Amino acid sequence: EEELKSSNEELKEKNEMLANQKKELQKTKEKAEESDRLKSVFLANMSHEIRTPMNGIIGFAELLTEENFSVKESKEYLRTIYSLSQNLLQIIDDIIDIAKIEANQLKISKEVFYINDLIDELYQVHDMRLAQSEIKNISLKVYKPLNNEKSKIYTDLTRLKQILNNLIGNALKFTQQGIIEFGYKKSDANNWLFFVKDTGIGIPKEKQNEIFERFRRVDESHTSQFEGTGLGLSIVKSLVEKLGGKIWLESEEAQGSEFYFTLPQGEVVKNSVSSRAPKVPEKFNWKNKSILLIEDDDVSRTLLKKAFYRTGVEIVAASSGEEGLQAFHSAGRIDLALVDIRLPGMNGFNVTREIRKINPDLPIIIQTAHALGEDREKSINAGANQYIPKPVDIKVLMSMINSYFN
Ligand code: ADP
Repeated sequence: EEELKSSNEELKEKNEMLANQKKELQKTKEKAEESDRLKSVFLANMSHEIRTPMNGIIGFAELLTEENFSVKESKEYLRTIYSLSQNLLQIIDDIIDIAKIEANQLKISKEVFYINDLIDELYQVHDMRLAQSEIKNISLKVYKPLNNEKSKIYTDLTRLKQILNNLIGNALKFTQQGIIEFGYKKSDANNWLFFVKDTGIGIPKEKQNEIFERFRRVDESHTSQFEGTGLGLSIVKSLVEKLGGKIWLESEEAQGSEFYFTLPQGEVVKNSVSSRAPKVPEKFNWKNKSILLIEDDDVSRTLLKKAFYRTGVEIVAASSGEEGLQAFHSAGRIDLALVDIRLPGMNGFNVTREIRKINPDLPIIIQTAHALGEDREKSINAGANQYIPKPVDIKVLMSMINSYFN
């Protein structure tokens, strides 16, 4: 009897274990199915989000080549192409960020700056965008309680800008009328609290945690009236955490949403404040100057030649590293070199090193379409003065070049 009892106990235990295992397996299966479903939704969404702007870009470009429009009409279509391209670039940047986060390759580069400057810049950009859209009745407000000197922080400026831009972008997307307010305050000596509030559609309680997950959206149906991929908030969350902070939200359906995140102050004393980008003058005069342009992509070469045409600069163009070095030797005078990284044969870093051996003082700007952050460091190590990512913002590039010509 004793024996039977004990073996009965054992069997009971085993039974319980098996039941637990079954539960675990069931959970894993559900998770896998859910992730599968999310990926399908994501792919469908992504395809839609990429094809929609592409449709406009290809369509208008085709129209412009085939028919004769007035200058006014042509300019309007070109503006549309430009703005659709920016949307597309945003999606591509998001995908690259997600891949970097996944591969643990997200690099943080901290500097000291005034939060007030950043808030002002964001206000200007979004206020201008709001003014252009006549459908919405929204007023934009900022909250910056401290003076400039007290608003110093040591963190990654580009990433903080990306986080706020994303949250403000969402606030604008999901709000039809009312107020959008964003700003910061000091929560204690070592920490900042940032916020973005809107009076939009709000987020149901049961969805408030999951929208921070990749691909998750409140409305996951194909008929969702709001465009999006469901990547934004998951990137924002990873970025906030990478910068040492936390993010959360408070929201009532139909009342609005408030997103909050914290960031540590960082060491501000040791570092000097980064200067703001200089205002771009309208016209440059680079007569009697000469730029060596080493770039293998025909379109990029033509674009820069056209963009620089009005300055009067002479352009010595080459489509490979070797050709570039030859041109450098045979040209009478070169005042600046603009070098692409990925070139057939000798790459841009090595070309830069070779030029440096001959001329230690020549300003060299490297441009690249690579996604990884370390290109900047590699460029500087190879001896370049500056680095600019593609797609190149022509105005920024021109003011960069100009700073070496004065
Ligand atoms: P996307 O905007 O591309 O869908 P996000 O990750 O930025 O992706 O946001 C995920 C979801 O969270 C959105 O689809 C939306 O349902 C919800 N959401 C985010 N911000 C807001 C907001 N300010 N108001 C209402 N809903 C929001």
